[in-house]
Amino acid sequence: MDQDPRVIALAGNPNVGKSTLFNRLTGLRVHTGNWAGKTVSVARAPLKSRSFRAELVDLPGIYDLAGEGDEEEVARDFLAFGAYDQILAVGDANDPIPSLSLALSLAERTDRVILVLNFIDEADPVPDANLITSLSGIPTAAVSARKGRGIPELLALLESDPRAKPRFTLPREIEARVSSLLPLLPSSSLPARYLALRVLENDGPFLRALSEKTGTDLSSPDLALAAGTGEAPMGSAFREELARARFAFAGKVMEHASSAPPPARGKHWLDRLLCGKYTAYPLMAAALFLLIFLTAVASNYPSALLEQAFQAAESGLTALLSPLSFPEELLINGVLRLSGKVIAVMLPPMAIFFSLFTLLEDSGYLARIAFNLDALFFRAGSCGKQGLTMCMGLGCNVVGVSGCRIIASPRERAASLVTNSMIPCNGRFPALLAVSGAFFAFGSGNGAFFTGILLLFAAAVTLISTRLLTLCVFRGLPSHFLLPLPRFRKPEILKSLWRTMTEKVFSSLFRAVTVAAPAGAILFLLLRFPAEGPSLYARFTAFLDPAGRFFGMDGVILAAFLFGFPAGETVLPLVLLGYMGTSALPEAGGGLFALLSAHGWTRATALSFLVFTMFHFPCAPTLLALWRETKSPKLLLLSVAVPLAAGLSLSFLAARLPL
Ligand code: GDP
Repeated sequence: MDQDPRVIALAGNPNVGKSTLFNRLTGLRVHTGNWAGKTVSVARAPLKSRSFRAELVDLPGIYDLAGEGDEEEVARDFLAFGAYDQILAVGDANDPIPSLSLALSLAERTDRVILVLNFIDEADPVPDANLITSLSGIPTAAVSARKGRGIPELLALLESDPRAKPRFTLPREIEARVSSLLPLLPSSSLPARYLALRVLENDGPFLRALSEKTGTDLSSPDLALAAGTGEAPMGSAFREELARARFAFAGKVMEHASSAPPPARGKHWLDRLLCGKYTAYPLMAAALFLLIFLTAVASNYPSALLEQAFQAAESGLTALLSPLSFPEELLINGVLRLSGKVIAVMLPPMAIFFSLFTLLEDSGYLARIAFNLDALFFRAGSCGKQGLTMCMGLGCNVVGVSGCRIIASPRERAASLVTNSMIPCNGRFPALLAVSGAFFAFGSGNGAFFTGILLLFAAAVTLISTRLLTLCVFRGLPSHFLLPLPRFRKPEILKSLWRTMTEKVFSSLFRAVTVAAPAGAILFLLLRFPAEGPSLYARFTAFLDPAGRFFGMDGVILAAFLFGFPAGETVLPLVLLGYMGTSALPEAGGGLFALLSAHGWTRATALSFLVFTMFHFPCAPTLLALWRETKSPKLLLLSVAVPLAAGLSLSFLAARLPL
């Protein structure tokens, strides 16, 4: 019992229940999601077993051992070079072929691989683990991680520590090439066949990492010459052929192992509807509309309640602090008011938006939206997943930016990161709605219709910017779409809600408040001093006025955008405050048209303001997130420059339209 515990890695596609199995086997409650906000780090914990000691490592999901992308890189790197003893290749019992084929590729690296087919509570028929073991040579267990079925059998299998002896043979031609390479390979701690296959695949990232981590250099001309002989394919063509051979073998095994053929993808009636030629776009538009409508309408009530609560807190605090000689005005009118505003305006829509978003994700529809959007985004030099990150950006750009992790190709990811803030977030909606309503209200008298048009415009400008970026700045080949469509699944509403609140909402909110609180204090001081004559803030807006007018706005508006840097929702209140010269944040709404017109606003000014609201620079929390995600000054600079250039030029034009 005193030897080191065995290290067991959990690998598999996203959403096959790895985390659930990890929690089941360790007795913990850890979640690693697959879309936004996912932690790239791996979770580790001891196995809950009395008979032997082991440590479990839960890796991020992978589709392919040779893919791209940061998340996958962590898992791939670990599987190639990490210090582990055994792998559990976790897969979906409803769709066992990709899982077996992943297990086969892992078996190239180590013979201590066990295939775990999860979801047997939903599978029909339940795959016969013994039959799969004997047909494929890969030890297999069938479990339901959620219900705990098959777990004792899996533990017994783990304890017996079986060895995989894959009965998969390579096509003869490939086998011959592998054999010819084997004698040429330098000795290494990794299996020689495994290395030979990577050389034939010409797997650049792997070969580079191999030489960095182990000093084994496989780039010698001899090897390249031997690998490249004959007519047989090399590089990615070889990789595809190998993958196809594994898949074909896995398909045959599963055909024999289950009486009914496995469900074919894309045949589900819902898929025919949701991804159909004529139905996909209308349904996506309907879903997006519903998402925004529910967010915008339903969040008004809790927002109003929160505002009231903060007002009550303000009066309570004033009463409490005024007898003491305490700078209560700074605290209350500055810090508390701006932070309270940020919380009241951001919390309800974020909670609603992200809960709905998580439900979409868990049900499997989100992956289908990415699939549908792929053709459109491909034309912009990007991929459908960018569409998802733009949708997340509608909620909050911080989340949109971290969501860009789901994009595998570095170039598409960079373009999506840079353009994400061009999609107006929840925080900017109230300003868009209020000003559209005051100056461009058609029909029903509110600004919703015009705001909808503005959103489409923002999406178009984002796509055009992405195209320009991928043409001029981030060059390279576009990735092809590899995301398999997950099965539809009934989402667990309460669990999703809890995950959303803890992982996304509170953390974003906390970041926003940490910026808003000191900003509120500074603003308060600028508005109050000096006691005589125009305040510092008024002098600053006068200084900005000529530049503001050049771009169709004025100094007060520009200053509001600059001081709104900590949180976009404060821009319109800051504009009003600039005109009124008071030191407390006023409410937007009511006589907005009258107030703004009195300060020289025309429809052209309003349009310039609306355009600039959509495109300026990312807010401070978003910039922080961008820095955290990329650590690249170049990307940070572009993330400010691209939207700003678009905003300034479009506002300049908007101001000159004959409206
Ligand atoms: P991961 O991405 O591979 O870590 O997958 P998760 O562990 O997050 O699981 C994805 C979803 O499948 C969650 O909603 C789980 O509750 C659900 N799930 C996991 N295992 C099972 C299972 O055995 N049966 C059923 N019905 N659902 C499961």
